[in-house]
Amino acid sequence: MRIASDGQDRHQAGRLIALCLVFMLSSPLVGAQPAPAGHGPDESATAAPESVPVPESLSRYVEFSDGPGPGGRTGRSVRPWTADEKQKVLECLTVARQQAPGLLVRAAAYGRIGLYRAQGCEHVTASACAMFKSSRQKPEILFFDRFFFPSYYYQVRPNVTNRVWATVHELAHLADVGGKIAASRRWASLTGKLIEQAHFLSCEQLWVSDQLCRDKGVPTAYATRNLTEALAEFATAIAFHHEAKINPQVISFVKEKLFALPYDPDPSIPLAMGAFKLMKQGKLEAAREAFDQALKIDPDYADAYWGRQLLEIRISERNKANANPQLN
Ligand SMILES: [Zn+2]
Repeated sequence: MRIASDGQDRHQAGRLIALCLVFMLSSPLVGAQPAPAGHGPDESATAAPESVPVPESLSRYVEFSDGPGPGGRTGRSVRPWTADEKQKVLECLTVARQQAPGLLVRAAAYGRIGLYRAQGCEHVTASACAMFKSSRQKPEILFFDRFFFPSYYYQVRPNVTNRVWATVHELAHLADVGGKIAASRRWASLTGKLIEQAHFLSCEQLWVSDQLCRDKGVPTAYATRNLTEALAEFATAIAFHHEAKINPQVISFVKEKLFALPYDPDPSIPLAMGAFKLMKQGKLEAAREAFDQALKIDPDYADAYWGRQLLEIRISERNKANANPQLN
């Protein structure tokens, strides 16, 4: 799913953003447990957000924000956190840090992750916006109503709940800063055909076909949506040791690219990020230089390459406009 304010931004966003939506019906974890009677967010929630300090072990990686947030730009409303909601998210992040600390380190490598309480989207649990998406150029996660539904809590696998799964899934998106890993040739060669075959098997009946996919070495049916969702789902499964039938090469790749520590940030990513920002500001020559530097470091950086091409179009349009001022 793409969220952007206009056509151009939408196109750019679609290219650059690891945007994740975990749908209730397509969740790998929904349906295996009876739903409890409650259908809304916990009624025990109280409005005392300041009463929940973020533990030091997490505060370097995440920060709660009551807005204005990405919801304002995307048409989704953001509201203040309740203490209960914060606590639920912190519990999930604590587990995520224990299971895969490298994910948090990577996801927050270029800025602390902004945590927002978004409303609406009844089928959506959470979504992640890589820093390219954010006007503040920082990673963000939106938590929707469904994340806090009592029925969404239940543990349907030996060591992981729906909420924790969704949290780790979003962190995996953010950990692929700049979308380079999911867009890499290696990831496509490791999983492209596999998820295509599994998707054919699942026939879009995502909520009944997880087992079919697992038999093919794909952790969930949701992973068959595309290479980006596959990366997040494989990473989450591997973080919780649900590795049955997963190709050992896939496991090694995910651990190396998303989990391994220490992590040295990739210098081409902030260069590309800066280039997109410069382009948005109309500083086209400076943007070109930044894109070129990013591509010099990593000639296979697909989004930087795409941005560089987009930039040339912008420059051409500007030059035409300057040559024919009456057209302005
Ligand atoms: Zn996702």
